[in-house]
Amino acid sequence: MTTTTDFQPADPATASPIDLFRLLPEEMEELAVRLGQPRYRAEQILHALYREGAASLSDITVLPRAFRERLAAEGCVVGSAEEVRRVVSEDGQTTKLLLRMAGGTLIETVLMQYPEPGDRHPRSTVCVSSQAGCAMGCVFCATGQMGFLRNLRAEEMVAQVMHEARVLRGKGQHVTNVVFMGMGEPLANYAETVRAIRLLTHPRAFSLAQRGITVSTVGLIHAVDRLAGEGLQVGLAISLHAPDEALRQRLVPTAGPDSVHNLVSAAKRYFRRTGRRVTFEYALIDGLNDAPELARELAAGLKGSGCHVNLIPVNPTAGGYRRPPRGRILEFERILRDGGVNCTVRVEKGSEISAACGQLRLDEELSQSPGGPVRGRRQSQPSPAPSQSQ
Ligand code: SAH
Ligand code: SF4
Repeated sequence: MTTTTDFQPADPATASPIDLFRLLPEEMEELAVRLGQPRYRAEQILHALYREGAASLSDITVLPRAFRERLAAEGCVVGSAEEVRRVVSEDGQTTKLLLRMAGGTLIETVLMQYPEPGDRHPRSTVCVSSQAGCAMGCVFCATGQMGFLRNLRAEEMVAQVMHEARVLRGKGQHVTNVVFMGMGEPLANYAETVRAIRLLTHPRAFSLAQRGITVSTVGLIHAVDRLAGEGLQVGLAISLHAPDEALRQRLVPTAGPDSVHNLVSAAKRYFRRTGRRVTFEYALIDGLNDAPELARELAAGLKGSGCHVNLIPVNPTAGGYRRPPRGRILEFERILRDGGVNCTVRVEKGSEISAACGQLRLDEELSQSPGGPVRGRRQSQPSPAPSQSQ
């Protein structure tokens, strides 16, 4: 059951009164009826937003002009994200957008494309940010080192997908997957993240398959259990990074006691309740968590759990953490496989455009000094120097 409070902004200081990307179909109907219109107007708006890629009220041409004017007078908008910069990798398969949200907050979103055999459309995955900054402080993560700025609202997450969807529309392609692996901890912004998932998967809204969505979390156990009970079929990735408590605590300083043990149990519960196998992410860092004995310990802890391990050679950030040499990565992978654990090494996408967590935003700050770095092909010039958010 929805109430009119759903139309209120989460943060009156930064939000527009009614962002149409916030409203689930039933709420869109309530809005139409409240403004004296027939219910089917909601369907027309949803079609224009999610099928035709409308970017403003004036793009929703199917509506009578008087109703569009009424919507504008009520303070309705179509998203509040403004594209500040677009960087495309040399191979054209990765497009990173720097977006300025209401209130000046800068966030980033990345589109990664993976060719499919034959004439099939490529797999096109949008990596969404759920917060500006992050409070979890993982030592190797650029976003974590930035600190927490603010939670993003559901409509700001949806807007990220819609911006990348418009990039794809230009190529006659569409979004096939969404991963909550950009800036921030999605489960620390639980209600807004779940609302975004419902908007993205609702058959009358963006209608992405639930199985095409993956939420990546540093491992907030209560939130993992809560997500398992939402009746959603979304995939879950848990960022583990270490097989033992002391090492995990060093890499993820906000991890609670017994976090490794508790997360493996939570992953099994998630699998039991949703039928979706959980992936453990493991950022491999040279000399820190890449030793063969750690791989053996990890294999012993995960054997029989049905979980998958995704090894991510760490992207270098300011902290001086480096990825291990190729041979050591492959050895780690082999030990896990020999130990009976399903395992892959993440394919690197767009590293020359800093497609790693939090990096474009840092580049943007650096690029304000002469000669600052932005690699890859820049497609749009930044607008006048963005103000620091919040
Ligand atoms: N906060 C969530 C989701 C965002 S981070 C989480 O931590 O899971 C998404 C993934 O990027 C996580 O697995 C995280 O560990 C990884 N990551 C962060 N910084 C990285 C870096 N410098 N190199 C490689 N992976 C990184
Ligand atoms: Fe936050 Fe995830 Fe980065 Fe850790 S890795 S600081 S949880 S965004």
